[in-house]
Amino acid sequence: MVNDINIAVIGAGPAGLSCATQLAKLSQEVIVFERQTKSGGTPLHCGHKGFGMLEFQRVLTGPQYGELLTKKAKNAGVDIRLRHSLYKIEDDILHFATPNGVKKYRAKRVVFALGVRESHRSNYFISGIRSPNIITTGALQRFVYEYESIPFKSGTIYNTELVSFSALATSKKSDIDIKTMVEKEKNIKSFSILKPLSEKFFETVIRTGVKDISIYGEDKKISHVAVKKGDRNIAVECEGVIFTGGFRPESAILQERFKDFNHTNKSVNTTQAFRLSDGRFFATGNVLRGALAAFKCYFEGKRCANFVDNSLKEEKEQEIIKIKFDSDEVDWFTPTMIDLNIERKYLTKLRFKKEQKGELKVLLNGKPFIFQGVNAKPYETVTIPWINFEVKKGDKIEIVFTTAPRDI
Ligand SMILES: Cc1cc2nc3c(=O)[nH]c(=O)nc-3n(C[C@H](O)[C@H](O)[C@H](O)COP(=O)(O)OP(=O)(O)OC[C@H]3O[C@@H](n4cnc5c(N)ncnc54)[C@H](O)[C@@H]3O)c2cc1C
Repeated sequence: MVNDINIAVIGAGPAGLSCATQLAKLSQEVIVFERQTKSGGTPLHCGHKGFGMLEFQRVLTGPQYGELLTKKAKNAGVDIRLRHSLYKIEDDILHFATPNGVKKYRAKRVVFALGVRESHRSNYFISGIRSPNIITTGALQRFVYEYESIPFKSGTIYNTELVSFSALATSKKSDIDIKTMVEKEKNIKSFSILKPLSEKFFETVIRTGVKDISIYGEDKKISHVAVKKGDRNIAVECEGVIFTGGFRPESAILQERFKDFNHTNKSVNTTQAFRLSDGRFFATGNVLRGALAAFKCYFEGKRCANFVDNSLKEEKEQEIIKIKFDSDEVDWFTPTMIDLNIERKYLTKLRFKKEQKGELKVLLNGKPFIFQGVNAKPYETVTIPWINFEVKKGDKIEIVFTTAPRDI
């Protein structure tokens, strides 16, 4: 049996819950489906403070933030169904695995707010032994904050994104000795001040520009991590390795259902209204790209709700132009499509995989239209503005990035 409902939001993290809360405030009936036993999303596993400042003018831990989002959603009238894991989408029918068997729903509008997943050792092609002591930041946070235990006494951290330093802080707080962080790039991928601060206060050496990383040991027990820097072979003694960051959208299920998939973002194509070309579906939050801070996902979810509400109240046909942007240097760009029937504040926003200097060029029907100099760090979002674009259906928009700097 298929249950017909008004709006389904899949994923009860900051984006899904803020979207659902706003929809309920706009008098829409909305059900949030979450696969976990608790709603709140990723923040539930982040025991440190640093959440809620812009949204609620309060400094909260991740679990407190998740609980507050849940409370606000319930107070607004949102129905939250836990232990509902979306595993298949057949046309517009959502299939959930639940403790009581498979349940099927069909909604007038569906919002995907599925979040991201951290890359593990296999995604980075790191060779060496297998061991239960090879974990991710998420697993580390769960050990420390949920089970109040530690997985090992000494470790090496792979990667230098913001979340890698969060893993370092959690490790240090739990007396896990992190002597070394390793990074393949020349510079760290986060704020450069974090390198001297970590070295001074945590006595953690950050080795950048390393290669040939391999994990050594015997019988699943790690003895050391070996890296190469220039001609030098370096061995770092440790009992465990923490793979951090490299966030990828939780989008396998979307890739299976939607042909219109963006391989740069590893997610679905969406307009500035967070809407897919099949207008029954929307997507918001980290599932659209890599990881942004929780407050950004919260506000984005809320904005998405207004577009979902509008689409039900005054249905306008979408007039879509896809933005072509094929660049190996780019981590993600959103939106990836423009709906000409909806106001546009900018063309798109993007992030690079690593520090970049160069030029972005926007071509309209093959003719260069916007030139934008770039000097960006990997954690900085670059906005390409909308400057008096006279665009009509059938036009072609392409963005090209070249690393050669241009005199401006
Ligand atoms: C270690 C760490 C530390 C962080 N620290 C901070 C910080 O201090 N401050 C800050 O602002 N941000 C921080 N963040 C980032 C923040 O947690 C995320 O930006 C935010 O949670 C993203 O919200 P979201 O709703 O898009 O996704 P998520 O919070 O990931 O929520 C997605 C939800 O969808 C559910 N889901 C996925 N697939 C399915 C499915 N098939 N069926 C049903 N449900 C599904 C998931 O279970 C999850 O509950 C941190 C992140 C990490 C990993």
